[in-house]
Amino acid sequence: MAAVTFNNLKKRFGKTEVVKSFDLHINDGEFVVLLGPSGCGKSTTLRMLAGLEDISDGEIFIADELVNDLHPMERNIAMVFQSYALYPHMSVEQNIAFGLKMTGVPKDEIAKRVKYAAEMLELTPLLQRKPKELSGGQRQRVAMGRAMVRTPEVFLFDEPLSNLDAKLRGSMRAEIKSLHDKLGTTTLYVTHDQVEAMTLADRIVILKDGYIEQVGTPKEIFEEPANKFVASFIGAPE
Ligand code: ADP
Ligand code: MG
Repeated sequence: MAAVTFNNLKKRFGKTEVVKSFDLHINDGEFVVLLGPSGCGKSTTLRMLAGLEDISDGEIFIADELVNDLHPMERNIAMVFQSYALYPHMSVEQNIAFGLKMTGVPKDEIAKRVKYAAEMLELTPLLQRKPKELSGGQRQRVAMGRAMVRTPEVFLFDEPLSNLDAKLRGSMRAEIKSLHDKLGTTTLYVTHDQVEAMTLADRIVILKDGYIEQVGTPKEIFEEPANKFVASFIGAPE
């Protein structure tokens, strides 16, 4: 079980509170999208879950374990960012395996996981290429492979498709969805893109100025937006 629970989570930078009483329970295997305009606190929330940002107040549980004081590497989480940095001098295979080599996973186990990730992400024919010989979408898949081989219990995505063109975004969206369906990993996905949220999410969390405005399935949010902000942001009739 790798459910995630946020209890009254808060983040202040100086005197400014940018995440305000964030309460949410994500079920094991659920795909939740955190949706809201730029600056509303999405990345900060995700970074607190990943352990990359201190918590000002509140609690985070992963699989019933309080993780507030756990190091990022101890949290069973893998994160895919918008600006993915691959090592230019390494092959695709080496890039995917890199993070694992640091963790002491045995060599044959690394090889097995890299092979599996490459098959899942259709990167097998590209394993010996260098990043500069790849398209933007292929590079993003390598970044996902790198996260996948860590066999995390929770996947975090922070606007992973923002740097891609519209056509590629569509196909990558489908890939992320199918990867999630195959692996069944609990996923928290941050975006400001309504279409991404609607197509990917089991449930959407709408955030504005650090507050949760509404939580619901895409259908619920579209058909019954809680207020004018949600309706206009999602493009639903009021
Ligand atoms: P989002 O990801 O939704 O665009 P962020 O979580 O990045 O929003 O930021 C939320 C707010 O917190 C913004 O107003 C941003 O300027 C502020 N912020 C983010 N990181 C820091 C920081 N390290 N120091 C001060 N303010 C920050
Ligand atoms: Mg952000």
